[in-house]
Amino acid sequence: MRMKVFVFVLAVSVGAWQCEGSEHGHENQIFPLRMKTGSGGHYIPEVSCQSWRVGVEAHNVVEWKTVPADCEGYVGNYMLGKQYRSDSKTVCHEAFSYAKTLNITSRDIWVFDVDETTLSNLPYYAHHGFGVEPYNATTSDEWVEVGEAPALPESLKLYKKLLSLGIKIVFLTGRPLNQKAVTVTNLKIAGYHKWEKLILKDTSIYHGKTAVTYKSSERKKVEKEGYKIIGNIGDQWSDILGTNTGQRTFKLPDPMYYIS
Ligand SMILES: [Mg+2]
Repeated sequence: MRMKVFVFVLAVSVGAWQCEGSEHGHENQIFPLRMKTGSGGHYIPEVSCQSWRVGVEAHNVVEWKTVPADCEGYVGNYMLGKQYRSDSKTVCHEAFSYAKTLNITSRDIWVFDVDETTLSNLPYYAHHGFGVEPYNATTSDEWVEVGEAPALPESLKLYKKLLSLGIKIVFLTGRPLNQKAVTVTNLKIAGYHKWEKLILKDTSIYHGKTAVTYKSSERKKVEKEGYKIIGNIGDQWSDILGTNTGQRTFKLPDPMYYIS
């Protein structure tokens, strides 16, 4: 009889614990080992921000204006640490592996976006909360006008390797036409010395238009001139969505801002 009471009490206790656990998410974990959440499955910025970043890269999180305030530390660590470089390297490695399989002709071009693809504005963003602060056109333009943005190292390597295969490079950027001179200077300082075209945004035509519209339209013009876009790389989904996107597209990481 005592044993039965004990078993009953034990069963009730276990049941209560399971309810407790379920409320805090124990039973909802996909896989229970080494989850970096607290013992009750509660919110931890490091884990939640990583999920947010994956959502951004997969284009599930769209039209966002700023990095969540809680994620400034996470994004800063990501950008300045090894992961950003490693993720970029994977993208560029895949791009070159693909390029090597092609029979290149003189009309084949590869489209590179500029900011956060060819040139890095990380020195600027490191002083502006890694995307937590709302976009500021004045300070951002001041930074661009300095003309000292460094190359993204993996992108520069890819650029050189594509050139060595005989592929022509077209830079297509959302920077306005009045930043052409400083962009040319900056590209050369950063190690980009050769290109077929550098297309900047004519704001008299594209004012108020999305980057998807602008870039699609410019790629279409290029193709009408007889070029074939065999590859297209950018840090924004708007670099690789729309029309005339190219035979293959490659998305570099960018958890700092979103351009539609
Ligand atoms: Mg960009």
